[in-house]
Amino acid sequence: MLRKPVEKQSCVGCGYCCIRNTCSFGVAKHPQDLDKTCPELSWTGTRYTCKLMAADNKLADFYRRELQAGGGCRSFNNPWRQDVRKREGPENLSGRSGTPRPLTPDEELDRK
Ligand code: SF4
Ligand code: SF4
Repeated sequence: MLRKPVEKQSCVGCGYCCIRNTCSFGVAKHPQDLDKTCPELSWTGTRYTCKLMAADNKLADFYRRELQAGGGCRSFNNPWRQDVRKREGPENLSGRSGTPRPLTPDEELDRK
Protein backbone atom coordinates (compact mmCIF):
# COMPACT_ATOMS: atom_id res chain seq x y z
CA MET A 1 0.00 0.00 0.00
CA LEU A 2 1.27 3.44 -0.88
CA ARG A 3 1.13 6.05 1.82
CA LYS A 4 1.56 9.77 1.59
CA PRO A 5 4.77 10.97 3.21
CA VAL A 6 4.02 12.61 6.54
CA GLU A 7 6.09 15.49 7.82
CA LYS A 8 7.91 14.52 10.97
CA GLN A 9 6.77 16.40 14.07
CA SER A 10 9.33 16.71 16.85
CA CYS A 11 8.53 15.75 20.41
CA VAL A 12 7.73 18.83 22.50
CA GLY A 13 7.51 16.91 25.79
CA CYS A 14 3.78 17.36 26.37
CA GLY A 15 3.57 13.96 28.10
CA TYR A 16 0.41 12.81 26.35
CA CYS A 17 1.75 9.54 24.94
CA CYS A 18 3.25 8.33 28.24
CA ILE A 19 0.29 9.47 30.34
CA ARG A 20 -2.13 7.81 27.99
CA ASN A 21 -0.23 4.53 27.81
CA THR A 22 2.68 3.36 29.91
CA CYS A 23 5.14 1.60 27.60
CA SER A 24 6.21 -2.00 28.12
CA PHE A 25 9.42 -0.97 29.90
CA GLY A 26 7.46 1.19 32.31
CA VAL A 27 5.02 -1.65 32.95
CA ALA A 28 7.84 -4.17 33.49
CA LYS A 29 9.60 -1.89 35.98
CA HIS A 30 6.46 -0.82 37.83
CA PRO A 31 3.87 -3.60 37.58
CA GLN A 32 2.26 -2.38 40.81
CA ASP A 33 1.51 1.03 39.26
CA LEU A 34 -0.63 0.05 36.30
CA ASP A 35 -3.42 2.36 37.42
CA LYS A 36 -1.11 5.37 37.75
CA THR A 37 0.95 7.56 35.49
CA CYS A 38 4.28 5.89 34.74
CA PRO A 39 6.67 6.62 37.64
CA GLU A 40 9.50 7.10 35.12
CA LEU A 41 7.79 10.16 33.65
CA SER A 42 9.36 13.32 34.99
CA TRP A 43 8.34 16.99 34.68
CA THR A 44 11.45 19.18 34.33
CA GLY A 45 9.67 22.49 34.76
CA THR A 46 9.34 23.02 31.02
CA ARG A 47 8.58 19.59 29.58
CA TYR A 48 8.15 15.88 30.36
CA THR A 49 11.06 13.49 30.02
CA CYS A 50 11.60 9.80 30.69
CA LYS A 51 14.00 8.94 33.52
CA LEU A 52 14.99 5.72 31.76
CA MET A 53 16.54 7.86 29.02
CA ALA A 54 18.33 10.24 31.39
CA ALA A 55 22.06 10.74 30.84
CA ASP A 56 22.94 9.09 34.17
CA ASN A 57 21.25 5.82 33.21
CA LYS A 58 23.79 3.39 31.71
CA LEU A 59 21.02 1.86 29.62
CA ALA A 60 19.70 5.19 28.32
CA ASP A 61 20.86 4.53 24.76
CA PHE A 62 19.19 1.13 24.81
CA TYR A 63 15.87 2.61 25.92
CA ARG A 64 16.14 5.48 23.45
CA ARG A 65 16.71 3.05 20.59
CA GLU A 66 14.00 0.58 21.63
CA LEU A 67 11.42 3.32 22.15
CA GLN A 68 12.50 5.18 19.02
CA ALA A 69 13.14 8.39 20.90
CA GLY A 70 13.84 11.16 18.40
CA GLY A 71 11.80 9.41 15.74
CA GLY A 72 9.05 12.03 15.84
CA CYS A 73 5.72 12.38 17.60
CA ARG A 74 3.03 9.86 16.67
CA SER A 75 0.31 11.79 18.49
CA PHE A 76 0.99 15.07 16.74
CA ASN A 77 -2.70 16.05 16.61
CA ASN A 78 -3.19 15.82 20.35
CA PRO A 79 -4.12 19.21 21.87
CA TRP A 80 -1.58 19.01 24.71
CA ARG A 81 1.20 19.74 22.22
CA GLN A 82 -0.11 23.31 21.94
CA ASP A 83 0.02 23.88 25.70
CA VAL A 84 2.95 22.05 27.28
CA ARG A 85 2.64 22.09 31.06
CA LYS A 86 2.40 19.73 34.00
CA ARG A 87 -0.81 17.71 33.88
CA GLU A 88 -2.36 16.68 37.15
CA GLY A 89 -5.66 15.53 38.57
CA PRO A 90 -8.58 15.28 36.15
CA GLU A 91 -6.54 16.28 33.12
CA ASN A 92 -4.02 13.55 33.77
CA LEU A 93 -6.84 11.02 34.11
CA SER A 94 -8.46 12.23 30.90
CA GLY A 95 -5.17 11.56 29.15
CA ARG A 96 -5.14 8.01 30.47
CA SER A 97 -8.56 7.39 28.98
CA GLY A 98 -7.26 8.53 25.62
CA THR A 99 -9.60 11.49 25.36
CA PRO A 100 -7.90 14.64 26.61
CA ARG A 101 -10.31 17.49 27.11
CA PRO A 102 -10.12 21.12 28.19
CA LEU A 103 -10.51 21.69 31.91
CA THR A 104 -13.94 22.71 33.10
CA PRO A 105 -14.08 26.28 34.54
CA ASP A 106 -14.06 24.86 38.10
CA GLU A 107 -11.08 22.63 37.37
CA GLU A 108 -9.27 25.59 35.80
CA LEU A 109 -9.83 27.60 39.02
CA ASP A 110 -8.57 24.68 41.15
CA ARG A 111 -5.42 24.51 39.06
CA LYS A 112 -4.53 28.16 39.87
S1 SF4 B 1 2.69 13.05 22.56
FE1 SF4 B 1 4.32 13.61 21.12
S2 SF4 B 1 5.06 15.62 21.84
FE2 SF4 B 1 3.89 14.66 23.50
S3 SF4 B 1 5.46 13.61 24.74
FE3 SF4 B 1 4.60 12.11 23.29
S4 SF4 B 1 6.00 12.19 21.52
FE4 SF4 B 1 6.38 14.02 22.72
S1 SF4 C 1 8.08 7.65 30.91
FE1 SF4 C 1 9.51 6.23 29.89
S2 SF4 C 1 9.07 4.25 30.81
FE2 SF4 C 1 7.33 5.57 31.23
S3 SF4 C 1 5.88 5.24 29.58
FE3 SF4 C 1 7.15 6.98 28.99
S4 SF4 C 1 8.81 6.10 27.79
FE4 SF4 C 1 7.87 4.42 28.94
